[in-house]
Amino acid sequence: MRKGKLTFPLRLNIVSPSTAKASRVFAIGDIADNQSVKRAGSAFATGKISAVNIYSQLLAVEDEKRTAELAEFPAVPPMMALAVGREAVAFGPGFDTKSGVDMMEWMFQDDLGWKSTLKHLGLTSEEEKEEEDEEAKKKEEESAKAAKAEEAKKDEIADLKVQELSVSSETTVAA
Ligand SMILES: Cc1cc2nc3c(=O)[nH]c(=O)nc-3n(C[C@H](O)[C@H](O)[C@H](O)COP(=O)(O)OP(=O)(O)OC[C@H]3O[C@@H](n4cnc5c(N)ncnc54)[C@H](O)[C@@H]3O)c2cc1C
Repeated sequence: MRKGKLTFPLRLNIVSPSTAKASRVFAIGDIADNQSVKRAGSAFATGKISAVNIYSQLLAVEDEKRTAELAEFPAVPPMMALAVGREAVAFGPGFDTKSGVDMMEWMFQDDLGWKSTLKHLGLTSEEEKEEEDEEAKKKEEESAKAAKAEEAKKDEIADLKVQELSVSSETTVAA
């Protein structure tokens, strides 16, 4: 225990002082001491893991043959993304602080991350899911088309080079 604060390591329940009741108390969000930057993403993840662990404990209480298998919250490297107007600024593992419109698109898309948050929470309706699948399929087809066009362009350039070479060698022979 730290001053004015309970520590909730890995499985997010109180382990010290370890009493049976205390081990049924879980922390989620900013109060969970995960020693990383306090973020909405971590809040979602700790909520999910705590819910899984509470469910596992309930099953173990109901069925003596079961033991509560508690999931752990992994160590999260420091990261943060902030939307500022039409741009976003972010830092994270593998890249230094970056900002710009492209960061906005990457981190929050065009709706401040609303759709991706709903998706993450499993709150996307079937219709929206179908729309997303359709959009992903369309994007995939477009990029395949672009790759094919790029290939065709390369082949065309290669053909032109071969033609140029044969013309120049014919000219040399004629000369
Ligand atoms: C200015 C600011 C900007 C941020 N920007 C980002 C960002 O861009 N990206 C990011 O990932 N994170 C950001 N964060 C951090 C993010 O908001 C938090 O990490 C996240 O909201 C934590 O979620 P939580 O559920 O633990 O707490 P909260 O979202 O704070 O929810 C706690 C809730 O409990 C309620 N509450 C408090 N006391 C009581 C009580 N006694 N009884 C009943 N209800 C109570 C509060 O009113 C509140 O609604 C930002 C934080 C701040 C302050």
